[in-house]
Amino acid sequence: MRILVADYIYTPSGYLQNSAILFNDKILEIEKSEMLIKKYPDAIVEFLEPHSVIYPGFINTHVHLEFSANKTQLKYGNFTKWLKSVIQNRVELMSDCSDETMRQACHEMLKSGITTFGAISSNGIDMQVCKEAPQRVVFFNEVIGSNEDFNENIYSDFIHRFDASNTCKSDTFIPAVALHSPYSVNKSLAKKVINFAKKSNLLITSHLLESKSEREWLDSENGELGDFLKESFGAIKPTNNIDEYIHLFNEIKTHFVHAVYATKDELNILYAQGHSIAHCPRSNRLLGCDRLEIENIKCPISVATDGLSSNWNLNIFDELRAALMMHNKGDLELLSNYLIKSITSNAAEIFNLNCGTVEIDKDADFAIVKLPNEPSSINEIGYLTILHTKNVSRVYISGERYV
Ligand SMILES: [Zn+2]
Repeated sequence: MRILVADYIYTPSGYLQNSAILFNDKILEIEKSEMLIKKYPDAIVEFLEPHSVIYPGFINTHVHLEFSANKTQLKYGNFTKWLKSVIQNRVELMSDCSDETMRQACHEMLKSGITTFGAISSNGIDMQVCKEAPQRVVFFNEVIGSNEDFNENIYSDFIHRFDASNTCKSDTFIPAVALHSPYSVNKSLAKKVINFAKKSNLLITSHLLESKSEREWLDSENGELGDFLKESFGAIKPTNNIDEYIHLFNEIKTHFVHAVYATKDELNILYAQGHSIAHCPRSNRLLGCDRLEIENIKCPISVATDGLSSNWNLNIFDELRAALMMHNKGDLELLSNYLIKSITSNAAEIFNLNCGTVEIDKDADFAIVKLPNEPSSINEIGYLTILHTKNVSRVYISGERYV
């Protein structure tokens, strides 16, 4: 058993001062440090540096490791232009994406305190790296296919990939299911995959209404995304309408990604069905998409980095800083606390994980932040953490130290 003593500990009841945590792979006790040290004389005690804050490990719910090789190949500024460049460069980007490149991406996340991530896997080249990553990984086997003629092959390839991931299932590697989006997965394929997820009680995710042109195509069968899909894939009309697509996910809690262009009524369905939203502010900005009005969203949100296909790094603090700047109205303290909650307790709830809060019996996953100096009040710790942290000073996963 170990004891970590810190100036501050982030808990569901606020930042505790001069307290300590007793843990093995789970959190066993949280108490004033003097009392805890006295009570457990055999525990290994470590005093963290002054102004340190113990956070639960951070959770990045949406990343595409398979695109980690991208630096300059993909075009930013407009969603359809970006998508075209993804399709043009896809084969090259995937073949350039070595295990080492993906391991570095995992390590970059780890250094910023990410102890759990949700990997969207479109073809399984990231499976081995995810399996061996120190982090907990929710491994989303993704399905994509708008043409029904290919459903049988696509479904059997999906099952093949899913089964391969399922043989590696463990406490830290959780196989799951992803549907790419309403414009790229036809209805009968979507239904089949969602039913599979329901029957097997799996986590599920889908991109949704990321761009204005997606909305235009699905609503009115035109716009630049529509032109591109017609030209390149021979699409005649959308494979789904938005309302039907969202209702396919009834009775299975779904982590929708982006939802920037969802209407109030569509959002109400998300709330009623217990769904959640991954919010990727830098990705949205870079692909010319609007700001998600998080102040009006009433379901759990997690801030996530998206992949290196639409971001310049996977550092969760850079993402939080971008969110803090992008959502430029409202109270800074409240927003900072909301953002931290989005990558801890909210995200753990979305993924049904026993982490994301510093509480007894939770997994001992910690990200330790060292503030540069004494905060003038405890209420400021949230935004000071976001402003002053690039990498954390220590990372623990199930009680093991990794940074
Ligand atoms: Zn994505």
